[in-house]
Order: sequence, then C-alpha cells, then structure tokens
Amino acid sequence: MSGHTSADERVEIRDENASRVLAAINPEETVEFLRGLVRIPSVNPEGDVRDAIAYCMEPLEAAGFACRTVGIEETKPNLVAEFGHADGPTLCFNAHVDVVPTGAESAWTHPPFAADLADGRVYGRGAGDDKASVTAQVMAGVALARSGVKLRGRLVVNEVADEETSGVAGAKFIVESGQVRPDFVIVGEQTLNRVCVGEKGTAGVTITTIGRTAHGALPWEGANAIEAMGRIIAVLQDELWPRLEARTHAFFHHSSGSVNMVEGGVKNNVVPDRCSVYVDRRLVPGEDPTETQAEVEEIARRAISGMSGARVEVQPAPEVRPATMSEPNSPLVRAMLGANQYLGLNTDLTGFSMASDGRFFAAAGYPTIIYGPGDPRLAHVPDEWVGVDELLEATRAYALAALALIGEQA
Ligand SMILES: [Zn+2]
Repeated sequence: MSGHTSADERVEIRDENASRVLAAINPEETVEFLRGLVRIPSVNPEGDVRDAIAYCMEPLEAAGFACRTVGIEETKPNLVAEFGHADGPTLCFNAHVDVVPTGAESAWTHPPFAADLADGRVYGRGAGDDKASVTAQVMAGVALARSGVKLRGRLVVNEVADEETSGVAGAKFIVESGQVRPDFVIVGEQTLNRVCVGEKGTAGVTITTIGRTAHGALPWEGANAIEAMGRIIAVLQDELWPRLEARTHAFFHHSSGSVNMVEGGVKNNVVPDRCSVYVDRRLVPGEDPTETQAEVEEIARRAISGMSGARVEVQPAPEVRPATMSEPNSPLVRAMLGANQYLGLNTDLTGFSMASDGRFFAAAGYPTIIYGPGDPRLAHVPDEWVGVDELLEATRAYALAALALIGEQA
C-alpha cells in the first residue's frame, strides 16, 4: 500500500535519551489527565474552552514550560506553551480541546462527560476527537521537560479552540498572527497512531437548477427543477463517481464525491422552479480545485441539455483547497516513522481523509503531519472512545519524535 522508509534513512533516536524520556511518562497520570479533560464539557458551539485550556496549562507550567494564552475571543483562548531553546529548530504540537455536541444522551451507554474507564478504554465526547491527542501531546511535553534530556531546539505545545467550527479563533488565528513559527508541526487527530503525510483537499459546489413553475396538474406548462436535478445526480453517480474511484494516490483513499444536501419544492401541487444540492468533493494530491469544480459543472450542464426550459447554475464553496502533503522523506516524517519503528508500531505512511487544523499550518508553508490516537470513525458518534494502550503509545511516539527533531544530537 505504501512506502516503507529504510532504517538507515531514519532520524536517529539516541537510546539512553529515549529511555529517560519514556521513563518520565507516567501511564496512570496520563490516563487520569485524559479523564479529567473529558469531564470538562468544552462543547462547540458555544465553544467555550477556558476551563479546558487552563487544565492543560497546569502540568506544563509545573514542568517548566513558559505558558501564555492568546486569542481573538474571550471564551476561546489558545494555549502556547514553550520549552527549550529558541535558537534551535522549533517543533509544534497542535491539537484542539473543543468537542462536537453529544446529540441525544440516551444514545450513549457511557454518559458523554463521565469519562468512564472500562475494558481498557476511556469513553466520552472528545475522548478520541481530540482530547486523547491533546493529552498525549501535553504528557509528552511534560515528560520531555521532566527527563532533563538536553535539547538543541524548542517544543511548543499549542492546544487550540474552535477546530470543530472553523478554526478562525483557533489554529487559523495562531498561524496567521505568527504566534507560532515552527520548523515542524505535528497535528494530533485520530490516525490510529499512523503517520499521515497530509490531508485531502476540498472543492465543494452548490448546483442549482432553475426551471419554470406551473400548476402541479399541468406539469407540461412548467419545467421541473427537481426532475432536472435528478438527471444531474444520476450522471454524477454513473459517470463521475467511478472516475473519482480511479483517481488514487499511494497514501490516500481515492478521490470522492457525495451529494450531501438538497433543497427544493414549495408545495405538493406546484411544479418546482428551483432545486439546489451541495456536492462534497474531496481531493487527492494532484487534483486541482478549480478543475474539479469545472468538471462537476460540465456534467451538470450536459445532463440537462435536452430538457427545455431548465438551466443550471454552479457556485463554488467558500473554502476550497488542494490536498496538502509533506515530503515523505523529510526529517519530520522520518522522525515520526522512526518513533513508530522504535515502538514497534505501524510504519506505513498514510493520508488523512478529513480536514484538520493542519491545513492552516501547511498553507503557511510549515512542514506538517497528522498523527494521533483514536479511530476517525468513532469521532462525533455516541460512545466515542479511545484505547488506553493507544493513548500511551501516542504519548511515547510524540516524545520520541520530539527527541529526534529537537533533542541534542549524538
Ligand atoms: Zn478533531
């Protein structure tokens, strides 16, 4: 499926330093930190993360990090915690403390903010997305500081607000205001502790068909916009989706499209003159957002070309972007792979199918990867959980990657 990097290309992790840092990770403290964080209901919206950020700051400050909170909204502070030398390379850990709403709590076996520990798992809203990553980053930072190993660079632990809505008051603000100017960025999201070299792009479009209204009993007098849309959707399914399945990439799931929203019709006895759908397009590296939107538009026009009285308008989504990808052989990727190899974890490179705050860092030109505990399929659903073993492996892997990137070299 993907590129193994040969062992001699990997960034060296000095054994005695690795042992010291790993010994400084306290498994019980780590699990309890996650449980305490899950109990803070930092639900977005509203997205008030003041308590969650203060909670993250505490152990970092105690371990010697210089901490500050920054932001543009009072209820959405972001933590910037720094440790080490500013004159060497800077590694930034980034993850988000806000969580999505719980939905109906009756759908949960384990109450969403109880942080139940059962069967080797921590349950709760945000247990995986994204508080396990936050916990692993904070605890890896604490371990690095406590271990006393010499650093040639600096670690910035950046836990942010606002990821689940837009990132505007969170990572976007952090990057665009220059609060952090890292040489390497590790974004914590659920990757099952696999190394994601980047994330897919998006290029959604809204398609609107415009027809002519008429009495529902006299449809030949009108042009039915919903039926026009039906033709378009059928061609997308028959023609475009198979084409996208063939657009593959070594590290990513194939390119994809999905009709995710529909709006149309005014009354049961009125021929509709308007119908809109939203087409969610996810791009693999190499696909151009403008071209892929034009591709949808061409299909939409062609699908209804034989239908008199109907026309189509295609509107690009406000945020479109190509896929992001770090160089597979870069020091950052090799450091993270080296950590996984050291720990006996998966060393196949992969790509992240969802969107993450990594897109802001990558867009600013900072080398960025995504890595964290938890299964993305468990995010945003009832009884979300993360495995304790996975949480601890991620904590160790972050710490080892940090050693490789900013630790003193042999
Ligand atoms: Zn997340």
